[in-house]
Amino acid sequence: MIEPGLATAAALAAMRDAVRPGITPLELDALAEEAIRARGGAPNFMLEPGYKHTICANVNEHVVHGIPSERPLVPGDIVALDAGAVIGGWHGDAAITAVLPDHADPERTAANEKLSRVTEQAMWRGIARLATGTHLNEVGEAVAGYVRANSDFGVLEDYIGHGIGRSMHEDPPVFNVPVRRRGPEIKPGLVVAIEPIISAGGIDTVVEDDDWTVTIADGSMSAQWEHSVAVHEKGIWVLTAEDGGASGLEPLGVTPVPIP
Ligand code: MG
Repeated sequence: MIEPGLATAAALAAMRDAVRPGITPLELDALAEEAIRARGGAPNFMLEPGYKHTICANVNEHVVHGIPSERPLVPGDIVALDAGAVIGGWHGDAAITAVLPDHADPERTAANEKLSRVTEQAMWRGIARLATGTHLNEVGEAVAGYVRANSDFGVLEDYIGHGIGRSMHEDPPVFNVPVRRRGPEIKPGLVVAIEPIISAGGIDTVVEDDDWTVTIADGSMSAQWEHSVAVHEKGIWVLTAEDGGASGLEPLGVTPVPIP
């Protein structure tokens, strides 16, 4: 799963470098597809029945499964970009959030930056707990605990992380909040996508008329960060990060270990 992970990382890096006012989510989609194919992969979102794109692009109150549109991004937007790749039948899945500064509205910009930063840090707390914990539900404790200690944001409960491997979405579910059951034991061979989705307001969602795009019901802004992470005999490795997750994990006292 190293190769599809790196192809996914390349797609996200290409989009991160290109995000600016005036570019459209459809143009970002094309860059992501090019990056994945350049690494010998194929976009795995296209394997979902009825989905024709490489990415989901969730702008502002759009929260998941957003179809990339031709509406150019503008200053003040916050956009979550979610992509995945398949190589040799094995999958990767990851997401980033980008904030487009609006110099005419510094409060909006600061609020969006905090929303993205708290979501990203919650993801890293969840990944770090995968390295130190014993059961998978501890990931949700770490994610929600960080969000609640650092903001009044809402952690969505309807959309969660998942196992990943021969399919993009597999068991076990990876909750972003504490749940009563302890979940499976964290042990070598487990590979999961950890993906907190956070709202600046309420956590209720509605599905739009396109039958894909999911929106926060009260219109609040949202953010999503995601990585696919492998547990192996020597430790954990973030498959969808070039550095295995070192930049996010080492400040938390966890050193990712390359897969032997
Ligand atoms: Mg996912």
